[in-house]
Amino acid sequence: MSTTRRLTDELAREGTLTARGFADLIRGRTPESAEYLFSLASEARDRVFGKGVFMRGLIEFSNHCRNDCLYCGIRRSNRLVERYRLTPEEILETCSAGHSLGFRTFVLQSGEDPGFGPGLVAETVSRIKASFPDSAVTLSLGEHPPETYALWRAAGADRYLLRHETRNPEHYASLHPRDMTVATRVKCLRTLKELGYQVGCGFMVGSPGQTPELLAEDLLFIRELRPHMVGIGPFIPHRDTPLASAPPGSVDETLYLLGILRLMDPRLLIPATTALGTLDGTGREKGVAAGANVIMPILTPMGVRGKYLLYDNKICTGDASSACRMCVQRRMESIGREIDTARGDHPDLLRASPCAPPASMSTAGGTPAAPGAAPGPSPLP
Ligand code: SAH
Repeated sequence: MSTTRRLTDELAREGTLTARGFADLIRGRTPESAEYLFSLASEARDRVFGKGVFMRGLIEFSNHCRNDCLYCGIRRSNRLVERYRLTPEEILETCSAGHSLGFRTFVLQSGEDPGFGPGLVAETVSRIKASFPDSAVTLSLGEHPPETYALWRAAGADRYLLRHETRNPEHYASLHPRDMTVATRVKCLRTLKELGYQVGCGFMVGSPGQTPELLAEDLLFIRELRPHMVGIGPFIPHRDTPLASAPPGSVDETLYLLGILRLMDPRLLIPATTALGTLDGTGREKGVAAGANVIMPILTPMGVRGKYLLYDNKICTGDASSACRMCVQRRMESIGREIDTARGDHPDLLRASPCAPPASMSTAGGTPAAPGAAPGPSPLP
């Protein structure tokens, strides 16, 4: 038996490998080993989730950002970006249109925009929750102090996405300005978990300087954090950033890592991302075939859609939300999958009442999971 096949079997059995094992598995990728990995990953996912793929509506409500991440098109020093910021009313109207299309999760994403302050985010979240009590709200607003995360959780936010980008401090430093550290990211992720959010971390595949050994560090970090969601997508250069001439990440390596994540934790919520669909016309279908189980069509209003460009050639910037909704449904049906219109919480939370309001929050609220332990008791009442 080949080493790669043996490592794949071991991963399926144990849910993890050594750092060396992960790096060897990644380096040993061949079309055949990938097919084998995808078949095990798909089976593992179907045992937990069946044929359904959860749908999330992505609302990119501001492209103002105080950060200067070297890879990101909306970084502060990119003066060519035409900046925009939706009002809470516009966000609510967008949710309303999305709700009519069947969306039951709204993902609010933006740059780190000091002009849309914590209080305004909280107000927006509570208005969404009041208008659409059957829907989940996911925030993806970057790094903030614990008090702010607690405020948003108390306002009703259910989930938080914050990719760690890379677990290795030197690699992180090569992709970010000096004032940003991976230690801060990790601290934020742990706080979010303690506050009872369903938490997602993740990384770009093929970011400049990434190696199989560094990816192994990312995977072991995920193993330790035990997030509810993991978002990964290929790095795609943006022409007006310092990394403009760096080569893009590989679709095949991204798919392979999706399969690995699925075998590490069959219950994870894993999106087939827009970046994957940007590099390959059927990248999202391939992502689901490799092990993903979430798709995130864009709901951002047409007038500003083309201005939220983290990377070049982003897809779906000219399509209306209703078209995107039907498009993803057709794409999923083309590979024998169906859109599941439920909220799509992590299986741990389904044991609790998914519609219950969050526990009364203090900054120390929530039940921290023991490090390395299986996901702790649901923090919801
Ligand atoms: N400001 C928020 C959310 C916006 S960025 C935050 O920092 O979390 C969302 C994700 O897009 C980032 O975490 C990053 O992993 C990804 N991204 C940014 N630039 C990218 C690029 N050039 N190619 C691929 N993905 C990119």
